[in-house]
Amino acid sequence: MMKRILVTGGAGFLGSHLCDRLVAQGHDVICLDNFFTSQKSNIKHLLTEPNFELVRHDVTHPIWLEVDEIYNLACPASPVHYQYNPIKTMKVSVMGAINMLGLAKRCGAKIFQASTSEVYGDPDIHPQPESYRGNVNPIGVRSCYDEGKRAAETLFFDYWRSNNVNIRVVRIFNTYGPRMHPYDGRVVSNFILQAIKGEDITLYGDGLQTRSFCYVDDLINGFLKLMAAPDDCPGPINIGNPGEFTIKQLAELIIELTGSSSKLVYMPLPQDDPTQRKPDITLAKEKLGWQPTVELRDGLTKTIEYFASLDLSKYRKPTGHTAHCSTETDEKMRTLS
Ligand code: NAD
Ligand code: UDP
Repeated sequence: MMKRILVTGGAGFLGSHLCDRLVAQGHDVICLDNFFTSQKSNIKHLLTEPNFELVRHDVTHPIWLEVDEIYNLACPASPVHYQYNPIKTMKVSVMGAINMLGLAKRCGAKIFQASTSEVYGDPDIHPQPESYRGNVNPIGVRSCYDEGKRAAETLFFDYWRSNNVNIRVVRIFNTYGPRMHPYDGRVVSNFILQAIKGEDITLYGDGLQTRSFCYVDDLINGFLKLMAAPDDCPGPINIGNPGEFTIKQLAELIIELTGSSSKLVYMPLPQDDPTQRKPDITLAKEKLGWQPTVELRDGLTKTIEYFASLDLSKYRKPTGHTAHCSTETDEKMRTLS
């Protein structure tokens, strides 16, 4: 059945892939974004589709729409982006959740929250099941994001308990693929760009911290399965790839796949950087029949092709001015910086 579906953060890395899938399924898709960390090129190909609409709006402000489903993805996601304006990051998570939950309540819409493995903080249980309550520093540099996302989960479950809002909460583990912002500072984008340019690969700390990397197509399959699951499945549910790699192994694999001559260099470890992270996906397998299918090597190959095809002069690194300057630029923004 065709539905009217709102995707907040729909122009971002994950949001644009989700919009692609929903538009292809024939739904009426409203993509809402303020382009804080993204650019129109991610959704340019959708602008001519009759079942796709773009709304420039900031989720910290209410909006009046009529929809059947909401995917709430709006939030800066990479440490560089979310630490740029930490107070705004907390506002986006909390006020964005309140505004979207209010919209869902009024419309009787089903609502999906993009939560994160960061709710587990620096975990002392490995791998992390959904029942683990986490080890989060409430006052560190990552707290604006971690605690913002935790507060959003609280709001989702209170709207579910108190107002019968039909919720779906997914805890996303590190995801990569085409349309990641080249200058978001995340490990996959950093290493691929460095390798392509033959620059030093920057390992933070000893490079022995681990992450589990999920290819974007697998992740979006998980999103769609969770949204379509029976109503007794609010989550939270981990979606991620349990294949665990050290950051050094990731660097070596990217060097191999790009045939790069880049060398590894060691840099200070950022504050509160989790030492290990790997999803327990038992619940996703049982409840959704979901598991990832794309091997890291194959996903990285596609991502490398994407980064190699980019005109990097159209993107900027975050600057002292605003994370907006990290998005695709025009001449005006060039002269402002
Ligand atoms: P992204 O930065 O590419 O996308 C986020 C989008 O939200 C961008 O288009 C941005 O412009 C938009 N946005 C930010 N603030 C906004 C606001 N106030 N109003 C409207 N739009 C706003 O990041 P992503 O990787 O696509 O992440 C999408 C969601 O998934 C985020 O909520 C993030 O926390 C979550 N997540 C992502 C990962 C990952 O590995 N990519 C992991 C865990 C959680
Ligand atoms: N990292 C690194 N070099 C970089 C970027 C990141 O060694 O150039 C490390 C970072 O310290 C962290 C891991 O890679 O341990 C993943 O970082 P990312 O910012 O991608 O995501 P998160 O820390 O949120 O999982």
